Amino acid sequence: MFFRSLCCAAVALLAGCATAPHAPAARPATPATLLLVSLDGFRADYLDRGLSPTLSALADQGVRAKAMKPSFPSLTFPNHYTLVTGRYPDDHGIVDNSMFDPALGRFSLGNRKAVGDARWWNEAEPIWVTAQKQGLRAATLFWPGSEAAIHGVRPDHWRPYDGDMPYDARVDKVLSWLDLPAAQRPQLLTLYFEAVDTAGHYYGPDAPQTNAAIGQVDAALARLVAGLKQRGLYDRIDLIVVADHGMAQTPPDQRIFLDDLIVPGHATVVSTGAISGIIPAPGHEAEVANALLRPHPHMQCWKKSDIPAHLHYGHNARVPPLFCLAQTGWLITSNTRSMLHHGKPIWGEHGFDNDDPAMRALFLAHGPDFRRHVVVPEFPNVDVYPLMTHLLHIVPERNDGDYRPVEEMLVPAAR
Ligand code: AMP
Ligand code: ZN
Ligand code: ZN
Repeated sequence: MFFRSLCCAAVALLAGCATAPHAPAARPATPATLLLVSLDGFRADYLDRGLSPTLSALADQGVRAKAMKPSFPSLTFPNHYTLVTGRYPDDHGIVDNSMFDPALGRFSLGNRKAVGDARWWNEAEPIWVTAQKQGLRAATLFWPGSEAAIHGVRPDHWRPYDGDMPYDARVDKVLSWLDLPAAQRPQLLTLYFEAVDTAGHYYGPDAPQTNAAIGQVDAALARLVAGLKQRGLYDRIDLIVVADHGMAQTPPDQRIFLDDLIVPGHATVVSTGAISGIIPAPGHEAEVANALLRPHPHMQCWKKSDIPAHLHYGHNARVPPLFCLAQTGWLITSNTRSMLHHGKPIWGEHGFDNDDPAMRALFLAHGPDFRRHVVVPEFPNVDVYPLMTHLLHIVPERNDGDYRPVEEMLVPAAR
């Protein structure tokens, strides 16, 4: 780790680092550039379908984790912020894709004003802010949170999220940032693709359309790898490819209707889907709690203080007083708000218990600091942050991750 390296440097001055156990060779003074790529909803086992030759080659020539465990809830915004802060959602404040905060009002992915409002994100500090504060430069295309001036800082280079931006253009934009003169060139970059998640929702994890989306993001990665090779950067850049969560099949007859359980108007439903946060209306607290807390065959609800400890969830003020989790494959909805996306039923969803194998995410890494031909055991996604701060030689912020399980991914000289 950073501190360990400093220690080692001090020991080396006094007595020679070689006497310390597992003493690493001195690390280069400047870190390699780090490019973090997110393939939204790319379940860990999708890699075994034989549809993504570029990803397989990266994994073969680098490190692959058997799987990466997302944090709870296994949703996009909570987990993207976990990846760049090393904190559980309960601990970084983006506790759901849809939230209510008494001071800030409502938050949802499509609410551009809220997404760009730093007050939602300020409970933690993402790695690009920390890196810039410590003298590095950063660029994001795209990442949840990157549009907000978190702790007063935006990435040096960034773009507002545009789901319609063609994938080739995204790759070319990132490559163009790597072509900048040294004084402007970022040392930390992010890149994001949503196609696998989108197809997984519309058609389910096993559908041909989802397989086609796997091919589509792999083609984008192929363009990236070709661009890096052309520039002589392929073996000089640390590339980490992650997903935020997996995907479970949700047949349309597997729905839980809240309106069958609670009287509409007696509660505010903050979020629906695999999880649901519910705020009882004043005067209806006991009635709503009694209705939800009784046993249900496909859903479990808790008072927020009773949410099981392994989920690391329920302490944050933004978690509503009542919280429900559906059995994997079932969705919580209401009669009035039907679960349709553009008139189509949702055949896949995530957000479920992060212990469920269907929620497992992809992790692979390639570059000068990573070992080759290595498969490491499953690890939690809070550990990606300490790995990245180590690679960038920056001092991490407080986080819930652990560097030790991920250290074995690195070549000895990079530890
Ligand atoms: P989910 O609903 O959890 O499946 O979230 C996936 C969706 O999040 C994507 O399809 C995008 O529409 C949206 N999304 C991803 N990144 C961003 C971003 N940076 N800003 C706004 N929306 C985003
Ligand atoms: Zn996602
Ligand atoms: Zn999704």
